[in-house]
Amino acid sequence: MSDTILVVGGAGYIGSHMVKYLRRHGFAAVVADDLSSGHREAVLGAPLHVGDIGDAGFVDALLGEVKPAAVMHFASFIQVGESVTDPAKYYRNNVTATQTLLDGMRAHGVNKFIFSSTAAIFGDPQYVPIDEAHPKAPINPYGRSKWFVEQMLEDYDRAYGLKAVCLRYFNAAGADPEGELGESHEPETHLIPLILQVASGRRPHITVFGEDYATADGTCIRDYIHVEDLAEAHLLALRQLLAGAGSARYNLGNGSGYSVREVIETVRKISGQPVTVVMGERRAGDPPALVADARAAREALGWQPRYADLDTIVGHAWAVEKRHLQP
Ligand code: UDP
Repeated sequence: MSDTILVVGGAGYIGSHMVKYLRRHGFAAVVADDLSSGHREAVLGAPLHVGDIGDAGFVDALLGEVKPAAVMHFASFIQVGESVTDPAKYYRNNVTATQTLLDGMRAHGVNKFIFSSTAAIFGDPQYVPIDEAHPKAPINPYGRSKWFVEQMLEDYDRAYGLKAVCLRYFNAAGADPEGELGESHEPETHLIPLILQVASGRRPHITVFGEDYATADGTCIRDYIHVEDLAEAHLLALRQLLAGAGSARYNLGNGSGYSVREVIETVRKISGQPVTVVMGERRAGDPPALVADARAAREALGWQPRYADLDTIVGHAWAVEKRHLQP
């Protein structure tokens, strides 16, 4: 059987780390990416097919050539605010194009799939830490687009035997421990890379979105999970699928939350650089605290996050960002 894994969105932040991790663990990876937000140079040592998975012809030719044992799908738009102002963009890419990919897989007899899902499917938490059984009530089109696909995958399994693992990331963060890859979104909206860019001098300040939440220091709490620990969870899920396991869904986080203020303090400490902070308004749709209960992934996959502490996560990301340190 083929040991080639098709990584859709493999030029992006998490996808590119995944490609490196797969290759290190003996898999051949082939990347498909439309480069709308990914970076050609982030694809290390894997063939890159540039194209859109919403294009059935592209998908058909790709699967015919690559004949993958499984598909990992990282290619989605991820900006919550933009999904509110332009939902069509999110439903077209995150839902419709994903269905085109799945239908291509059916046609080619590829029946193993790993899907990047998100804590945003839960909406405002009814309790924390959030386990897999927590009610799904997404509060924006981004979260809904991911939840639609999760439900579609259940139907595709029932009807067509497509085995899928949905991995619901909390806050993906950090960078390749070897410093070859990092996080680079345009525009950047994520907290840790933004603070690091202040530390390196690429931005004047970080704006804290609200300090009047019902948390210990008033700022939002998130569960930051190292990108390579995410890659490890995918690898474990992939091995199970290849061994014949059924569909599953897991929440992926460390199970401990850090406030925005704590993250800023950590960046100051790790970088040794000043970080100017500006207090701002709350951002629409931000729950006060999002923390994962990831026991299911630990138990069923044997997943053990290696870089669980925030100092390490920030340290790896700073090692990449400090190359931009302004004199
Ligand atoms: N945040 C902030 N300032 C920023 C960007 C983010 O205060 O410039 C806060 C945001 O309100 C949230 C946390 O940092 O509480 C993490 O936000 P991010 O966008 O990184 O991830 P999300 O939790 O939205 O997936």
